[in-house]
Amino acid sequence: MSAFMASATPILLSTWSFGLRGHAAAWPVLEAGGHAVDAVVDACTAIEADPEVDSVGFGGLPDRDGHVTLDACVMRSPASCGSVCCLRQHLHAARIARDIMDSTPHVMLVGEAADAYADAVGEPREDLLSPAAAKAWESWKRDGTDVDQIRDAGRPVDRGGGQLFDGERRWAGHDTIGTLALDAMGVLAGACSTSGSPWKLPGRVGDSPIVGHGLYVDPDIGAVTATGSGELVMGVCGAMLGVEEMRRGAEPTEALLAVLERIKSSYDLEEKHQVGLIALHRDGRIGSAALRDGFKVGITTVDGDEILDPEHVLFPGESE
Ligand code: ASP
Repeated sequence: MSAFMASATPILLSTWSFGLRGHAAAWPVLEAGGHAVDAVVDACTAIEADPEVDSVGFGGLPDRDGHVTLDACVMRSPASCGSVCCLRQHLHAARIARDIMDSTPHVMLVGEAADAYADAVGEPREDLLSPAAAKAWESWKRDGTDVDQIRDAGRPVDRGGGQLFDGERRWAGHDTIGTLALDAMGVLAGACSTSGSPWKLPGRVGDSPIVGHGLYVDPDIGAVTATGSGELVMGVCGAMLGVEEMRRGAEPTEALLAVLERIKSSYDLEEKHQVGLIALHRDGRIGSAALRDGFKVGITTVDGDEILDPEHVLFPGESE
């Protein structure tokens, strides 16, 4: 059982500046005294439907064979989490993950069976491949780029305006909406949703929908979520490692740095690898860190919306 605080100042924290588009949907929930879990799912749901965000939901880039597949995870506590992987026919992966969490004895459903579950709970079927994503896939096929989701994916730069860039061009790659919330009752929740890495091998699942990797929430300690090169996060159980560091008393940003240091010592990192992490302690303290420049964080409190640079960048100043 958790010792929730009797009251708290609500806060929403998301990966990337486009997270604020989700906060516009989610903040009214928190402001009205609603539940953190409703807020984080609403934030992801809004981003999934936004074709301007081309790495989450509709607009996401497809796998090697031209199929968009979606992954998501929702978590209140170790005993209350849900996840869905490789959805091909339903857009609202976070909502479906929440349904799995609340209405089944399971944590994770995958692939065709997950789409069948979504049908059964009344989620509408949708075509996930946007015209822009189809065009990008056609040109990737034509250029015959190597099918290696890590080397192939590049690194996004967030200039703070809700869109990501690759040099002067719009970024066409991977990233994840990860949202953490603390509600007025002092309850934490987190959710994340992604289309994973572009041109991935069919069936590839990254860190985002895996409890403890892309997202972890311990109601007595805090919450962490990740974005970036999922394979780097998966090998170190990144989100759980960050929460465990906070359990040992680390400040939220220090805890995230420990995750990045573990990644640094565990992999041969390439210049284009990026991992962005955010943390929300149950007492409302926040943290943020990234491997490299280019990551941003969206935050909403009673004082309004703000876009923040990460508090710490492990390899600052390397090319954007
Ligand atoms: N971490 C996600 C994945 O590997 C993608 C991203 O956040 O860029 O699926």
